[in-house]
Parts: sequence; C-alpha cells; structure tokens
Amino acid sequence: MPPEARVTRFAPSPTGPLHLGHAYAALVAFERAARGRFLLRIEDIDQSRCRREYEAQIYEDLHWLGLVWPKPVMRQSDRMAEYHAALARLAQDGLIYPCRCTRADIRASLSAPQEGVPLGPDGVTYPGTCRAHSMSEASPQDAIRLNMGAALARVGSLAFVEHGPEHPGRHVIDRDWLRDVAGDVVLARRDMGTSYHLSVVVDDAAQAITEVTRGADLFDATPVHVLLQELLQLPQPSYYHHELIRDNDGKRLAKRDDARALALYRAQGLTPDDIRLTLGLVPGA
Ligand code: GLU
Repeated sequence: MPPEARVTRFAPSPTGPLHLGHAYAALVAFERAARGRFLLRIEDIDQSRCRREYEAQIYEDLHWLGLVWPKPVMRQSDRMAEYHAALARLAQDGLIYPCRCTRADIRASLSAPQEGVPLGPDGVTYPGTCRAHSMSEASPQDAIRLNMGAALARVGSLAFVEHGPEHPGRHVIDRDWLRDVAGDVVLARRDMGTSYHLSVVVDDAAQAITEVTRGADLFDATPVHVLLQELLQLPQPSYYHHELIRDNDGKRLAKRDDARALALYRAQGLTPDDIRLTLGLVPGA
C-alpha cells in the first residue's frame, strides 16, 4: 500500500495519565501515517476504570507532542449499538454463548495444574463449562464467549501481514493454537456489552484503519482479531507491533507508573524533542 493511503490509529484507554510508553505508541502510529491519515480512538468501554479527566489529559499531552488528528474523535462508549449488532450477527450464526463462570469457577474447573501451560491472549484457556448454553438464556450479568471450535469450522486458512520490526512478514495463523490456547475468548464482558477484542475489530473497520500499530504485547491477540474480521466479513488491516518501552530495570512501563507520566516531564521543562530522543526517535520528525 502506498504510504499516502495508509491509515493508522492510536487507541489509548483513559485509565490513567499517558506515560512514555504511550508517547512511543502514539508517535509510531503518527509517523507510520506520515503521508496518510492518523486517527485517535478513545477505548473507554470499561467505565469503572475510565475517567473524563484522563481523556482530556490525553488530548493535551498528544497536542503538546505535536500530533494532530481529525475530529470528532471516536469514543468506544458511544458505540455500544455497533458492538451489539456484531454480537447479534455472531449469535445468528450460532457462534457465541453466555457464560456465568467466575474466575474462581474457571480455576476450580481446570483439572491439570496450570504452571507451564501456554497462556492465551486472555490468560488461562477457558475449559468450556458453559459452551452448551444458548443465547436465548443470556442475561446482562453473563459474559458472552466465542465458540472457538464452531468459529474455526466456518473459516478457511487465516493469515495476516506484519510490518513491525520483530516478526515482519506474512503470518499463517495456527488454528490449533486458536482452539487449544486462545480458546473461547470473551466477546462481551459481564455488564459491559462488549470486550476489547470485539470493539477493536469493529472499530478498526469503522475507521477504515489500514495498518494497526500497537505494542508487541498485543501480538497474540491478533489471530483472534483476524478470525473475528473473517467471521464479521470486515476488511483486514495489516499490523505493526512495536517494541515496548521499558524502564531501566527492563520492566514494562505500566499506566500507574505515574513517575513517567508525560505531564511530569513537561512540567520539568522537557520538550517534545527531548521525549523523542529519549524514545530513540528522530527529533522533530
Ligand atoms: N486500548 C489498548 C491499550 O490502551 C490498545 C488497543 C490496540 O491498540 O489494539 O492498551
């Protein structure tokens, strides 16, 4: 795809102040879209953790970094009807089911000890306890899961193109990994009506994103997203998973790591170019 046709996005969740890791993600997305379009999306489906003050701070920090984006900004909390429609479509195809299990139920029903067992994008593999339940029995307190076996039976071979530095190339998705490790992923969390996987796929398509840029920690979520794109007949973007920014001890920066909040660097008099240099990026790019 010619760079001028590229559409990328930065999709932060307003659950805390932006730190250096976010600045890196935003700058990578912005630079990958240099001659195309850079979009912003606020991922605020978890209303118990998201705050409007943090959202306002995100706009301020990104403007300070020199980024610009078209308005209005997409906010996931405004898009519940779209997520609902996607779920309805999967329900019609018999691919989802309601699940009442708590985390403790899931732990208790896993017979084998879990040490050393590969983890999927959502952690331990769901054992399928509620798989026989039908959507007609669903209540808002239930989570909604994808029946991974049924979903895989509906699609052919799956692949995606990665442009990131760590694993560039075409990746054929391992169907056994999806079935046995990712398993019946949650598409709507209890009392939430959606989940990260569902919203991101629906919204990347709605925003006509051509290249999803995000941290390497989400690489394992990509096969699930590609499968959902296929099931919902949505266009498939390519991917660019960037390296994660770590602190001096090699620990990944977390959102609650306020010591590295961008606003604090700014208050200390650092410039956006100082931030770029700290992150190993070209100043003023
Ligand atoms: N909202 C996610 C985060 O803040 C990013 C999701 C994505 O880029 O796919 O980590």
